[in-house]
Amino acid sequence: EDTVVEVPSACVDGGMVRIGGSEVVMMAGPCTVESEKQLMTTAAAVRKEGAVILRGGAFKPSTSPYGFRGLGEEGLKLLAKARDEFGMAIITEVMTPTDVAMVCEYADILQIGTRNMQNYMLLDEVGRTRKPVVLKRGMSATFEEWLLAAEYVLSQGNRNVILCERGIRTFEKTTRNTMDISAIPLIKRLSHLPIISDPSQGTGRRDLVGPMSLASVAAGTDALLIEVHPNPDEALKDGAQSVTIEQFRALMPQIHAIAAAI
Ligand code: PEP
Repeated sequence: EDTVVEVPSACVDGGMVRIGGSEVVMMAGPCTVESEKQLMTTAAAVRKEGAVILRGGAFKPSTSPYGFRGLGEEGLKLLAKARDEFGMAIITEVMTPTDVAMVCEYADILQIGTRNMQNYMLLDEVGRTRKPVVLKRGMSATFEEWLLAAEYVLSQGNRNVILCERGIRTFEKTTRNTMDISAIPLIKRLSHLPIISDPSQGTGRRDLVGPMSLASVAAGTDALLIEVHPNPDEALKDGAQSVTIEQFRALMPQIHAIAAAI
């Protein structure tokens, strides 16, 4: 039987978002929480266009140690403030087992990033909570390794696991990652867990986020996770893959059209 993960979200009728149900759920927001103004501007805009879950990194896994690594707990507090103001549920990354309890105080969904997909101590720890967990696909992981990582969380008793296709590492450098749309229908065959799609990390390119979002919806994704920034060219992190508020607004009706057609 397919798993449906329920996430409390005050901005929807009934107060619960269902991931893995019949609707494509929209999760959107900045890659990284940079400031109150940046977060609130983005949250207001994505909520207006129909997002019900707000994304934003407070603890950022940065490839370079000199990149912006997030505001830490201060960022989590801003996310909680945005939830109070706009009613959206919060998804944010947790990077270490010792941070899990603290991140749980603020987040509605715990995100495990691609670099931590096989951090088994972290998987055990989020498994001991009952919070929904988005488990990103390791950039070089096989499907078997990814599903076994999910089993780590499930085997601790947390049944609320959502898988996320976010691109894989290939020889190609024109895109940051190679978005593997086939993962969406394949996971639906291999697993009962919901599968969502992150076309921002999946491509690393703002111009590809729209087409890959539509392709993901056509392939059956249960949700989209999209990075949006009021001024991507000034973003402290990953501006190249963040769409503008205007681009996000233009994309939403196209997503609805594809969702209605399948
Ligand atoms: C993110 O979504 O902020 C992120 C870092 O994603 P990934 O782990 O897929 O690179």
